Amino acid sequence: MPLHESEAIILQGYPLGEGDRLVSFLSRSMGRVRGVASGARKPKSRFGSTLERLSHVHISFFEKESRELVRIRECELIESFLAAFGDYPSGVALAIFSEVTEAVLPDREASDANFRLLLLVSQFVKRTAKPEAAIAYFTLWTVRLGGWLPPFDSCGRCGRALAAEALYLSPSASAIACAKCRLPGMRAVSIAAVAIARRMLAEKLDNLAEETVNPRATRELSDVMLDVIERQIDRKLNSRELLEPPSR
Ligand SMILES: [Zn+2]
Repeated sequence: MPLHESEAIILQGYPLGEGDRLVSFLSRSMGRVRGVASGARKPKSRFGSTLERLSHVHISFFEKESRELVRIRECELIESFLAAFGDYPSGVALAIFSEVTEAVLPDREASDANFRLLLLVSQFVKRTAKPEAAIAYFTLWTVRLGGWLPPFDSCGRCGRALAAEALYLSPSASAIACAKCRLPGMRAVSIAAVAIARRMLAEKLDNLAEETVNPRATRELSDVMLDVIERQIDRKLNSRELLEPPSR
């Protein structure tokens, strides 16, 4: 049974058996892994609160041949996000980050970019309690890293360079078109939302958050990207239901 050690972020946890916990985590070295933490639900468990959602940890686990689940040996907390869940809008954002990451990443494929993205947006929400820009940034980059986002610089049909104008996206985001070339079923993305997306692909989240970003366009971008993600994973996201309706 080889022993692995890695930096990791806890994605989800489920009760298992009498006092165990089934845990899904994103490890830096091996990607998304599922494992069992024996006795984690018993009082005075050695795991303490290290297995809470989004905990940034140092984890060690045994891999068993021919078994999908690893056995978690030890987990040491680097940073907790438990307190941030106490603020409702922040908690919804954090729930979206963990559910989406769990849903889009394949088993055991290391992805340092997804790891850094998840940590960045979680720390941002914890620090600022301003989840709106972080949700847009996270969902946009998740779609981009998934390879589902076409370049925003030209129309995919006529090839014309796109300036400051609204775009039209197919439901899975596989096709992008200008107003003239749009096809039935394509969804309009407003000029303001496109402008935010362009900036988010080019700049750091911290830069964007210091100024007042158009809240309605930020939410529009999040909604478009969440739709793309739901289309790609072929199901609805539970955490998305918790989002407040967009303000008018
Ligand atoms: Zn066109």
